Amino acid sequence: MIFENAIIGAGASGMLCACILNNSDTVIIEHNETVAKKVAISGGGKCNVTNKFMSPSHFLGDKNFIQKALSKFDEKDLLELLKQNGITPKLNPKIVKGTFFCNSSKEILDFFLKNSTKCKKYFNTSVIDVDFDDVYTIKTSKGIIKSKNLIVASGGLSYQTLGSSDIGFLIAKRFNHPIKTLNPALVGFTVQKDQFWFKELSGLSLDVKISVKGKLIEGSLLFAHKGISGPAVLSSSLYWDKGSLSIDFMPKINITKFLHTRQNISNALPLPKRFIVSFLSSIGLEDKQLNTLSKDEIERLSSIHDYIFAPAGNFGYTKAEVTKGGVDTSYIDENMQSTLQKGLYFIGEVLDVTGELGGYNIQWAFTSGYVCAKELKRNSQ
Ligand SMILES: Cc1cc2nc3c(=O)[nH]c(=O)nc-3n(C[C@H](O)[C@H](O)[C@H](O)COP(=O)(O)OP(=O)(O)OC[C@H]3O[C@@H](n4cnc5c(N)ncnc54)[C@H](O)[C@@H]3O)c2cc1C
Repeated sequence: MIFENAIIGAGASGMLCACILNNSDTVIIEHNETVAKKVAISGGGKCNVTNKFMSPSHFLGDKNFIQKALSKFDEKDLLELLKQNGITPKLNPKIVKGTFFCNSSKEILDFFLKNSTKCKKYFNTSVIDVDFDDVYTIKTSKGIIKSKNLIVASGGLSYQTLGSSDIGFLIAKRFNHPIKTLNPALVGFTVQKDQFWFKELSGLSLDVKISVKGKLIEGSLLFAHKGISGPAVLSSSLYWDKGSLSIDFMPKINITKFLHTRQNISNALPLPKRFIVSFLSSIGLEDKQLNTLSKDEIERLSSIHDYIFAPAGNFGYTKAEVTKGGVDTSYIDENMQSTLQKGLYFIGEVLDVTGELGGYNIQWAFTSGYVCAKELKRNSQ
């Protein structure tokens, strides 16, 4: 039998695509035993599906390409589709502005299963290789599957324990698609010797503003055993590759407000004492009365608003929520089809489109999956 559509990967993008198609001409090939394992644990088990502030400015990748796709299926369309299925994610701006969370990720998994009953599903089946000769020949761990169209929805490289593999990038290369450099993203930073004092503060969290490659990111920073993490750091990792970034540890009040007080620095500043003690020691400043500071000391203390350092690296793919880089979208049309190879589509994280923390990546998976399914439907008519 030759299928009309073969989708590699039953994750967020592949399943949304399958739900829109929902026909017996479509097969989904997934090497896990069930659908969307990443979605299951996303948002701490409550899947942060989208964001009120959806726009290309929150993504790395070709803004024009992202905008065109979002114009066909954005956060409002997604929330409406979920509503029609009895799911009403709630706005929860506590950690990241504009985020919508489900009551439980299971709502999304059930939605996937309920709306894709007509599609054929091969679980516990790994795609090993793909060839093309009039139709696609997909070599899997359980034999050959043939299909007219091939939809690569196999995601990125992070969290291999949940089923990630490099098959999407191998298929892209096979059909001469350039790949933009891959790197872990939405991940914590490791630090160099000068910032080892961060590690002493492990477990402490602060609201900060991070400036990285011209982007300003607000949110909480968590000092960790290996370096720094937390929502603001994860989003910063999207924009950082090498070199320095700057942290404002006290973004809401300017230090100049306190310079005339007779109190010691650690008593006056509205920050945890543990942090101030370590910070002062890192800049070689004694904890003394603020009104006695010299010009040079004030300058050093002011670095609390602009602490510049270069991370050593990041925590790697085992901890990264996503992979940045991916299949170059210069050779993908606005319906997610390859411009180099007919009938070949790429959707989701495998593409060179990566969002900040806050529901942007699942929205992208759904947007690209939706756009692709609509195109496949149009072509089959
Ligand atoms: C811990 C964690 C929490 C996250 N939380 C959020 C969140 O709350 N909000 C948000 O927007 N984003 C979140 N993300 C990111 C988001 O989950 C992903 O960006 C999104 O799932 C990508 O969708 P996708 O369909 O491209 O890939 P995936 O959802 O990763 O799906 C790819 C599928 O392909 C399968 N596959 C891979 N290789 C093969 C092969 N060779 N053969 C067969 N099958 C294969 C995989 O098993 C997988 O099921 C989180 C990620 C992680 C790791």
